[in-house]
Amino acid sequence: MKTGFFYDERCFWHSGTGYAFAIPVGDLVQPLASGGLPEDPETKRRVKNLLNVTGLLNELEVKSGPLATREDLERVHTAKYLDDFKSISDSGGGEVVPFSTTPFTQGGYETASLSSGLVIHALTDVLIGKNKNAYALSRPPGHHCLPDKAMGFCLFANIAIAIKNARSNGLAKKFAVVDWDVHHGNGTEAIFMDDPDVLTISIHQDRCFPPDTGNIEEQGGRDARGANMNIPLPAGSGHLTYLETLNRLVLPKLRSFQPEVILVACGFDASGVDPLSRMICSAKTYSEMTKLLMKTAKEICKDRLVFAHEGGYSEVHVPFCAHAVLQELSGSEIDAGDPLAPIMDCQQPNTEMLEVYSNIISRYKDFFQIE
Ligand SMILES: [Zn+2]
Repeated sequence: MKTGFFYDERCFWHSGTGYAFAIPVGDLVQPLASGGLPEDPETKRRVKNLLNVTGLLNELEVKSGPLATREDLERVHTAKYLDDFKSISDSGGGEVVPFSTTPFTQGGYETASLSSGLVIHALTDVLIGKNKNAYALSRPPGHHCLPDKAMGFCLFANIAIAIKNARSNGLAKKFAVVDWDVHHGNGTEAIFMDDPDVLTISIHQDRCFPPDTGNIEEQGGRDARGANMNIPLPAGSGHLTYLETLNRLVLPKLRSFQPEVILVACGFDASGVDPLSRMICSAKTYSEMTKLLMKTAKEICKDRLVFAHEGGYSEVHVPFCAHAVLQELSGSEIDAGDPLAPIMDCQQPNTEMLEVYSNIISRYKDFFQIE
């Protein structure tokens, strides 16, 4: 069985024309030549292009997926949000709520439904055994989106929609989401806060975005204590800190929760050259983290791993990070390397800093009562 790779060219047509960094153009704000959003289609299209030129794409099972249906979307989002979004999308685009960092153009509703559809399809095909694991190149991303509010370039909560679809089709009951996008997965957290059967784990830069969520104290609602785990890391964390975080916090938690499938909210914005964060991960960090999750998935959930693409704003670095993940997932020999690793010094971190990070992880270990 091959790794499923779910993408659709139409996802790259979503844009924020008329906006600059999601701020309406006008007054003192000059239009950007690039089209408007930091969440630029090139960061994703270049992933597909790199897979193409190295030949790795030929080793994957490449598929698209149908759009998420209104029924799929309503399992997560309010009818009012869906109606408002559809109506603005049909009449030229804009934002559902002004200044909410989520502009879209005509047809944005359908593109967002397609992005959710890719994740639904990826999760379904892994759960029914068509693919051993899968990667959805979903765009727009989803992990900040709330049931009634778009946020942070996210228009539909892709992973949550896919989980609720799979559950309603009787494909699985217990799910885990590991969110290593550098920003807090506040949308996924909010949607599953009271659900004891969905473990949500977010590793993020402390108080980066949203600035007021993602604290370790948020551990799940009254009937779901322990089913939410926030791991805020200080700015400057890199390769070894992320691997320590997985080994000492995330993997033990997954083993004790015993999900039937692990989903990864896969942002590449902890990259050392990302413009929207201050971390120093390299392509090797993402490939090592993928390796660790694959080992754990083998132990606890029949290898079932489903990646959904989230943020990542370096047009140059994101493709190499994603290629490294897909090389691991598919077990391929084709290695694209990481042309930026030498300038990030991420393999040999300052030992004093490592001690600081190690102490933080030890404190979290005690807090979460992980053996
Ligand atoms: Zn992000």
